[in-house]
Amino acid sequence: MNGFWPKERLKLTFTPYDLILKHTFTLANSSRTVTPVMLVKIQFNGFEGFGEASMPPYLGETQKSAARFLGSLNLGQFTDPFRMDEILEYTDKTAPGNSAAKASVDIALHDLTGKILQQPWYKTWGFTPENTPDTSFTIGIDNEETVMQKVREASPYKILKVKLGGPNDRKMIETIRSVTDKPLCADVNQGWNNKKEALEMIYWLRERGVVFVEQPLPKERKDDHAWLTENSPLPIIADEAVCRLSDIEEAKGTYSGINIKLMKCTGLREAHKMIVTAHANQMKVMIGCMTETSCAVSAAAQLSPRSEWADLDGNLLITNDPFNGVKIVNGKIILNEEPGTGVHFISDFQI
Ligand code: MG
Repeated sequence: MNGFWPKERLKLTFTPYDLILKHTFTLANSSRTVTPVMLVKIQFNGFEGFGEASMPPYLGETQKSAARFLGSLNLGQFTDPFRMDEILEYTDKTAPGNSAAKASVDIALHDLTGKILQQPWYKTWGFTPENTPDTSFTIGIDNEETVMQKVREASPYKILKVKLGGPNDRKMIETIRSVTDKPLCADVNQGWNNKKEALEMIYWLRERGVVFVEQPLPKERKDDHAWLTENSPLPIIADEAVCRLSDIEEAKGTYSGINIKLMKCTGLREAHKMIVTAHANQMKVMIGCMTETSCAVSAAAQLSPRSEWADLDGNLLITNDPFNGVKIVNGKIILNEEPGTGVHFISDFQI
């Protein structure tokens, strides 16, 4: 009989979706109210795994490019979802770039295989769930009144991430300090230009309870970042400068740590390797995210017990999350017992 019936094959489907932001989100170089994503499903043998590609416009991917990439994949050639090396190497080699679209396949495949195994991935990896860090909550650049309101709304979070790199950085910090004395981390998004002024600013920030600074200068300025890391009283973390595993080699000695995001590194499989590699090189790890639904955030949260810091607030910044997943309780990531990436699809449209 077995030889007669056709083998079950992986089936990939996807649909575009727009995330509505609670607040207009302003970074050093851009501003937006909506983030386009692609929601992805892989089916196999009665099981479904969910994935997501989040595509903030400044990163270059769009719903159109993701649809083109995902539409070009032939996952139907695979009859065993556990051959993840094979499936994800094929996906990665199909076209260069498209890292968020690739991540959506990786996340869906992890969710699917975890559901078949009936285990959440943090358990399969052997991580201690109590070791999840507190997540920071991001405060975007805004006017004084809105910043104060956002800080008050962030009362459950024990650490705040402040977007700097605009003309009013000191004002921004002072405004936040008028409301709270919580520890802050500063994400400059490459917004500063002069290394000496940057160092001066970092000393100023340290006196005001900032614990690290992320991507202060343009990512191309490797020597200037290395100089800052050597002279800075606070850790300097790479974000834009380190996307994939192969970028870590160059970041050694240049940065004290890296911000790993699934959308930059093509998903959980590579992110896991990046954590191991960073730690082997005495670099600290932050697990971060874009504006995302609970789907991609819950996937990233599976890795958070092995990360020194987490910035997994993407799903908290939107009003139309179609998934239910890992929760933040009093600022700490709480991993659930649900299999796969720990998410449920709760909307009534089809992916
Ligand atoms: Mg950043």
